[in-house]
Amino acid sequence: MQVSLLPAFVDNYIFALDSTEGTVVVDPGDSTVVERHLATRGSRLLAMLVTHHHPDHIGGLAALSARHPQARRIGPRDPRIACVNEVVGEGDHLSIGGCNFEVMATPGHTRSHIVYRCGKQLYCGDVLFGLGCGRVFEGSPAQMLVALDRMAALPEDTEVYCAHEYTLANARFARMVDPENAALAARVAVVRALRDLGQPSVPTRIGLERMCNPFLRCDAPEVVAAARRQTGSDLVRRADVFAALRSWKNTC
Ligand code: ZN
Ligand code: FE
Repeated sequence: MQVSLLPAFVDNYIFALDSTEGTVVVDPGDSTVVERHLATRGSRLLAMLVTHHHPDHIGGLAALSARHPQARRIGPRDPRIACVNEVVGEGDHLSIGGCNFEVMATPGHTRSHIVYRCGKQLYCGDVLFGLGCGRVFEGSPAQMLVALDRMAALPEDTEVYCAHEYTLANARFARMVDPENAALAARVAVVRALRDLGQPSVPTRIGLERMCNPFLRCDAPEVVAAARRQTGSDLVRRADVFAALRSWKNTC
C-alpha cells in the first residue's frame, strides 16, 4: 500500500493508504481532506481506522460514514467514539485492501488508545511523536511508559506514522534534556532542513527515536541525571524518571 500524508487542521496528519482495491484512512479528523484525496485518486473508501476518541482524530467519521456506508469503521471500545461498527483491541488482526493490520492496546494518552501495525508501518496516533510523546491525559505515566516501551521494542526500521507534525517543536525540550547527544543534534538539523522546505518530518523510525527521543531514553544516565536535577529528587524507578520528564515538558 502506498501511504499519503494528508495535512489537516494546524499540525495533524491523516494517513491514506492506497491499493488497487481502494483506500484505508487512519484517524480521519476532517472529512473534506479525505474526500479530496479520494476524488483525486478516483479511489473508493475501504475502511477508517481510529486510534482514540479526540476530535482531531475522529471528527470526519460521521460525514464519511454517511457518504461511504460500505466502508468499515474500526476503532477501540469507547462510548465516546460514535460510528465505529467494528471494535478491535490488543492482538486483533485485520485484513483490509491486501494489508494485514495488527492492533496493540496502548493506554496512557487516553484510556482506550490503540495503535495499528501493518508490516513495517506503525500508525501510533498520539502515543509516540518525533522526539516526543503524547500527553498523559487519562492513564498513568507508568501505563504510558509501557506503551512507549512496546513501540521502542519494534524493529528499528519500523516507520512511525505519528498523527501530528510536532518533531521540531519537541526538539527544543529534547535538546534541553539531552544536550550532549550527537545523534539528536544531527536529527534536529535534518528535521529543520525538511521543515524549511515545507516537507514533513513524519514518518520517523523506531531506531532513530530510540537514539534521540528523551522519552525512550529513561534509562540513559544523562537523561536520568537531567530529570533528577530538574526535580531535585532521587527518581529511583524508571517510571518516575518518565513521569518527571513528562511533567517537566508540560511546563516548557
Ligand atoms: Zn489526542
Ligand atoms: Fe491528536
